[in-house]
Amino acid sequence: MVSQSPDIKAGPESPVRAPSSVPVDDAVLPFEVDALDVRGRLTRLGPALDDILTKHDYPAPVGKLLGEAIVLTTLLGSALKFEGRFILQAQTDGPVSFLVVDLKAPDRLRAYARYDASRLGETKDSGTLLGRGHLAMTIDQGSDMSRYQGLVALDGGSLEDAAHEYFLRSEQIPTQVRLAVGEEWRSSDGGKHRWRAGGLLMQFLPKAPERARQADLHPGDAPEGTTPHTVAEDDAWVEARSLIGTVEDVELIDPDLSGERLLYRLFHERGVRVFNPQNLKAECSCSRDAVAAMLKSFTPDDRAAMVKDDKVVVTCEFCSSVYQFTPHEAGVENA
Ligand SMILES: [Zn+2]
Repeated sequence: MVSQSPDIKAGPESPVRAPSSVPVDDAVLPFEVDALDVRGRLTRLGPALDDILTKHDYPAPVGKLLGEAIVLTTLLGSALKFEGRFILQAQTDGPVSFLVVDLKAPDRLRAYARYDASRLGETKDSGTLLGRGHLAMTIDQGSDMSRYQGLVALDGGSLEDAAHEYFLRSEQIPTQVRLAVGEEWRSSDGGKHRWRAGGLLMQFLPKAPERARQADLHPGDAPEGTTPHTVAEDDAWVEARSLIGTVEDVELIDPDLSGERLLYRLFHERGVRVFNPQNLKAECSCSRDAVAAMLKSFTPDDRAAMVKDDKVVVTCEFCSSVYQFTPHEAGVENA
């Protein structure tokens, strides 16, 4: 199905039209390039990302890393059609030893990171900030349903590298991921900086599965002298990969470049179809009731140990909301 017109198609049955030039922030735009058997999603984040990151006032490299994790979460989690959560978590030995992004379907995002300020130094590289550990992706469909967890080792590389490794080893679907996070300054805005991000996930899903064979890109720990087995990659996938290999970070985060125009720029020779965007927002799901229930799940000794100045104060790590209880309300005995 090769499009005669180098335009964009919206939805499965929609006519061909020109790509919209209106940028849409805080949304995931699903797309498909039939001629190359690829499907993907493009994320653009503006106010929602800025809201999450500025609430914590992270040092810039930590904010950038958490931003990358947030973009990756939107690319992986937004495809899930259920009422539940997609949780991305990294636990490592690096200066940023823990980060978590929680996407509550269909659109609520929250995230935070823990870091050791004394170990940050001049490090700006996301891979070095993370160090070694693992990245876990959990799909939680609620208490009665099964949980799925995918794990991938972090070995000093970026989150993009980890995502590629995950898809190569676990899903065995040829996949390319791009993540970009930046800060925007507008003089009209009093010079205030705002976080922005963009990302792209693209998968090769041919109807004939044998076309999806992949070259062994990561010989990993194979002993020296081992010849990695070589597999010729499908021409369509090679072409698709080289097309998104040209995307610059600045294009992914450009506030004036619409997602549709970016996809058009990449795939116009082949024809690209877009579907309805899925909107995202920064919103925490914490509540006073949920915090009270959590306190009740602690042991009486743990609860008693939380009393300071005759009150129990709990701060939500995701959104920094502060919940204050009397010892009696917190279930502390003899209060
Ligand atoms: Zn919260």
